[in-house]
Amino acid sequence: MPKLQFPQSDQAVNHLKNYLPGGVHYNFRYASKETIPFIKAKGSRVWDFDGNEHLDLFCKFGALIVGHINEEYNSKLIEYINKVISVDQCDLEESVCERIIHHVPSAEMVRFGLSGTESVQNAIRLARAYTQKPKFIRFEGHFHGNADNIMGGRQASPDHPVPIDYEGDLLGTEGRAPGIFQDQSFLIPWNNIEALEQLLQEQGNEIGSVIMEPICINGGGIFPNPGYLEKVRELCNLHHVVLIFDEVITGFRVALGGAQSLLGVTPDITVFAKAMAGGALPVSAIVGKKEIMQLYTDQRVIHAGTFNGYPLGLAAVLATIEILEKDSSCYERMNGFLNQIGHYLVEAANSVGIPMVIQGAPNVLVFHSQSHPMSHPGDYENNSMFQDILIAKVCRDYGIQFSPISRFCSNLLINESDVSFFQERIGEVMTEVKQISESFNNSNYQW
Ligand code: PMP
Repeated sequence: MPKLQFPQSDQAVNHLKNYLPGGVHYNFRYASKETIPFIKAKGSRVWDFDGNEHLDLFCKFGALIVGHINEEYNSKLIEYINKVISVDQCDLEESVCERIIHHVPSAEMVRFGLSGTESVQNAIRLARAYTQKPKFIRFEGHFHGNADNIMGGRQASPDHPVPIDYEGDLLGTEGRAPGIFQDQSFLIPWNNIEALEQLLQEQGNEIGSVIMEPICINGGGIFPNPGYLEKVRELCNLHHVVLIFDEVITGFRVALGGAQSLLGVTPDITVFAKAMAGGALPVSAIVGKKEIMQLYTDQRVIHAGTFNGYPLGLAAVLATIEILEKDSSCYERMNGFLNQIGHYLVEAANSVGIPMVIQGAPNVLVFHSQSHPMSHPGDYENNSMFQDILIAKVCRDYGIQFSPISRFCSNLLINESDVSFFQERIGEVMTEVKQISESFNNSNYQW
């Protein structure tokens, strides 16, 4: 397969740098700085300014679950946008909430927002008010959005498990409000029940919530150890701490009921975003126990947002749920294709002597070019991380779009031809990755 050329895309992005910082809409230190604008899409494919066709395994950071130009989804949105566009409440709330409550074990009541970041912050506020305890616990490798109090950092020490900024943090940022980490939170290893137990025993009277990704996708695609979540649940009950599952990635992607429906442990509050509205529109939600959500009813806790529950967003959530409900084997089917892609990735890497493991959850996999799977985020070797970034970058030149953090996702329209598209290109990608990796030590390769 010939390598793609992007003269028009590159020119457009270079020009954009005059208007958008970096020519892009977000920046992470680990992300490749190269981006491609797309102007046409269908199924799992997208086309750029130069007419090149790409396989979209990025799926908008996992948000795109319905696939590009899903006719049923699109027509439902068009129907609704022609009905009512901008009112505080419409005729969809009841049916959308009922569907969510039906599927999600922890959902007794629902509040909508726009982004995962914002709903995580609101969930933490709710937990503080409910428990009357100010701090929260989060875990190494878990990501909960772009807010000062929760992004990046590392543990100061096991004896003093508060997050601190450090040189070289890929999620570190200048401009963080001073003291915000230490004032509000603790940071401990996940899948380590002793660390949680000890912290709750020592400081449980200050801790209002524990927040985690129930399957840690951001930390490398790691599953909870058997019995871990059950024990976390018990400890939270014991210490009157609200257990928050951040299902921004896993929600509606691994199952309609989220990861909690697969894992069998029910949190007090869950946050959804990304895939819940299918992928075209931003909608997030905080769902949880009536007793906690009641704090909104009682006006004790404020939850605000101009666009909360906007009609088109609700129509998108309803359309997504209905499409997923109707297609009873869709999770299995999507996952089957994604696993095949994972299989070819491993095969191609191994054939040039690059080790490769795939881990993650149904419909959201993560690859690591190392020989052992990650069982905690620290297992990610620096070399593997840079090689993974390189793989994603070379893939892009052959028309395969991964997420910048070596994650890849399926969508409802993924099919056999997408697997073939991948299979036809990945061999050459890996040969090139191998060549670049070998010349690394003495090269001046430009990231
Ligand atoms: N939580 C998790 C688990 C996420 O992966 C993300 C985004 N990647 C967020 C929260 C933040 O969501 P948003 O980008 O919608 O603010």
